[in-house]
Amino acid sequence: MLLIKNGRVLDPASNKDSLLDILLDGERISRVGANLPVDGAEAFDATGLIVAPGFIDLHCHLREPGQEMSETIETGTRAAAHGGFTAVCCMPNTQPVNDTASVTRGIVERAAAAASVRVWPIGAASKGSKGEALAEIGAMKDAGIVAVSDDGKPIATARLMRQVMEYCSSLNLPVIDHCEDASLFAGGAMREGPQSVRLGLNGIPAQSESICAGRDVEMASLTGARLHIAHMSTRGSLEYVRWAKKQGLRVTCEVTPHHFTLVDEDVRYDSNYKMNPPLASRSDRAALIEGLADGSVDAIATDHAPHHPASKDVEFDRAPFGITGFETALTLGLTELVIEKKLSLMRLVELFTTGPARVLGIERKIAAGEPADLTIFSTDREWTFRAAESPSKSRNTPFDGRSFRGAPMATIVAGRFVYRR
Ligand SMILES: [Zn+2]
Repeated sequence: MLLIKNGRVLDPASNKDSLLDILLDGERISRVGANLPVDGAEAFDATGLIVAPGFIDLHCHLREPGQEMSETIETGTRAAAHGGFTAVCCMPNTQPVNDTASVTRGIVERAAAAASVRVWPIGAASKGSKGEALAEIGAMKDAGIVAVSDDGKPIATARLMRQVMEYCSSLNLPVIDHCEDASLFAGGAMREGPQSVRLGLNGIPAQSESICAGRDVEMASLTGARLHIAHMSTRGSLEYVRWAKKQGLRVTCEVTPHHFTLVDEDVRYDSNYKMNPPLASRSDRAALIEGLADGSVDAIATDHAPHHPASKDVEFDRAPFGITGFETALTLGLTELVIEKKLSLMRLVELFTTGPARVLGIERKIAAGEPADLTIFSTDREWTFRAAESPSKSRNTPFDGRSFRGAPMATIVAGRFVYRR
């Protein structure tokens, strides 16, 4: 038994914001109320802290199996726990690709043995994510996948997208879409614009993403499938999502902390600023923040993409895309969105909890009987992020050395502390 005392409980599902105690009994929440008796339970004093439902990250790369130099399920989920996440969805672009039930089972078993937080695998849409034949989606669902994606690449053709969507519809699985038009993207390293010209890097136009988002919103309209746009970075894509929601289509989307924090003008000749989709224009960033505030965006997801230092420590155009993200996600949300008065603290919590849960078709709330997953954080704790101290095996972040206000203080999964600051 664990009693969380005197915290300010924020529960977006019930819109509750009040000083309450929460009693956890094993893996479940047993009581929520004012002044609950300690009665022999272990007590945690949350005075001055926010107590939220456990954060869910819809998008990360744990690199296991196959790229354990960069990250493992053990190290990645430890970093996730430090960031306040209680569950993470890992993308299938491992080696081998998670495109069969046996790879999925391997991930689930490894997570049961070594993970700090819940690991919910995402299965590939096509075999090897090659964009040709369908992966073993039904068998992977039985083995534990929560969604399907060829993340890292777009689903090559509308015809294949139709097959994936029709199949996933019958299984009620969301299709997570990495939107990119390969012919426009080709050879690009950052967003096309004055800064790419200044740096002499090949540019990628915003339309590389939005053309594909438009295509797939149309495909969701054709099939009725659940479509989730990953790491959405452009105003154009957001307009397609808004249109789809207005039509009542089952279309959702996520935005990463780096896309609501940084813009293309911030890019320096440093591969820690290289990610896909690339950092966007000021106007795109403003649109994403509007979408986060008005409900058009459903979730904040990290796209935590660790790369071993040796692979990132090369010329910008040769470096792989991606940055780490678990430990800076919440604090970037607090700093860039809440302190800047772009959205309320309740809305920020929703984007990390009930929002992503809804995308997966589950609920997340603080009530008796619910899983004992909680994220406890401070909105005023001052600290400096040091990538060298991260439990992640990788250091590829543009936020190393940056000072923040607000930090995760404790992460609880199934009634146990997996992180305490
Ligand atoms: Zn992606």
